[in-house]
Amino acid sequence: MSEQTDPEALAERVRSGDLRLYELEDHADPETAAAARRRFGEGETDADLDAVGAYGFDAADVEANVENLVGGLQVPMGVAGPLPVAGEATDGEFYLPLATTEGALVASVNRGCSTIRAAGGANALVTDRGMTRAPVFRVADVTEAADVVEWVRDSFDALAEAAESTTSHGELQDVEPYVVGRNVYLRFDYDTKDAMGMNMATIATEAAAEVVEEHTPASLVATSGNLCTDKKPAAINAIEGRGRTVTADVTIPREVVEDRLNTTPENVAEVNERKNLVGSAKAGSMGFNAQAANVVAATFLATGQDEAHVVEGSNAITTAEVREGDLHAAISLASLQVGTVGGGTKLPTQSEALDLLGVTGGGDPPGSNADAFAEIVAAGALAGELSLLSALASRHLASAHEELGR
Ligand code: NAP
Repeated sequence: MSEQTDPEALAERVRSGDLRLYELEDHADPETAAAARRRFGEGETDADLDAVGAYGFDAADVEANVENLVGGLQVPMGVAGPLPVAGEATDGEFYLPLATTEGALVASVNRGCSTIRAAGGANALVTDRGMTRAPVFRVADVTEAADVVEWVRDSFDALAEAAESTTSHGELQDVEPYVVGRNVYLRFDYDTKDAMGMNMATIATEAAAEVVEEHTPASLVATSGNLCTDKKPAAINAIEGRGRTVTADVTIPREVVEDRLNTTPENVAEVNERKNLVGSAKAGSMGFNAQAANVVAATFLATGQDEAHVVEGSNAITTAEVREGDLHAAISLASLQVGTVGGGTKLPTQSEALDLLGVTGGGDPPGSNADAFAEIVAAGALAGELSLLSALASRHLASAHEELGR
């Protein structure tokens, strides 16, 4: 089939019904196909898509990332830092890339970073890792469900062999069965190393599910039964974890809290308790934090993570206590789903943002880059928490002073 090079002529073929939008790559190179879609879009609407067409990646390189390409979206990116982080997988000072359109966000995180620096740095640790996929199977009744669960509990090796035959990196760590009526859910949990692992876990689970069907009467209904739980707020991720479970903490000397944050450890602890803990509890919130989603979303966008995972990634509890007169603050992110290979991480700007942190690509040993990245994001989220909590606390301090002074 000969390729066409005139975007307008291709757009006209779409307009006339001769071609569908998704068929353009069958008749033109990916750049021309994208240009034809822009022409078509401009012809159908009043939009001018020049800015969308001014993208910096190679259209041929994003075919695994997007369909019906029209161009690229630009989001401003800033850096906050240096942020000193000592973890198991990382130890250094980092400039955190944050892609956002929210003015003041980078400045806020930067203030938290400088406070953490003045306090000697944050600690951060990945305490659990595992990407999950939970297919749902139909069974005849609860007796059959119990038989399936027993078989699954006795057959971990056979399931692992099938699952791991599909990947050279992924390792099956656990299969947790749940029974609800005539439904059996098997929550497969994988160490996906440096990949966020959602494709890897899905492909591996499909292979394991075939083995379940071969050896039990269970019948697969869907590869995802929503007990995974992917891209939905869910207590199971908050409790069991998904992706990386990671905590960052710091002890900030009283004088640093007073000098840098214009407040006191007591005030920060009080705001945290009354706002992040009690207020969130009253609201029935899944997030007991001030602005974790801001840092998670901005780093995810900057580094090519799956942005829909901000839903679970920002599921975090912030604690703040006065300890021997100083402020101890921590943030625990239960389900931070991050990767340094695969997905959007290889795109040019996203890969450069990962380069800033020194965590591009596969780590040595595998998994260490994604662990390091998770530790840095957690420390960044802690910086955001400190900044916002202290902004609120210093206002409280100001009004308290006003009251007391009168
Ligand atoms: P992927 O881009 O599908 O695969 C990454 C691959 O990189 C791995 O499968 C692995 O190959 C290889 N690899 C090379 N070095 C590695 C290392 N050091 N550590 C780990 N793997 C390494 O990425 P993915 O993380 O599995 O999936 C992410 C994508 O899934 C995103 O684009 C996301 O948007 C999408 N997604 C999919 C679903 C779904 O249900 N399928 C749901 C949500 C999101 P081997 O496996 O051969 O070892």
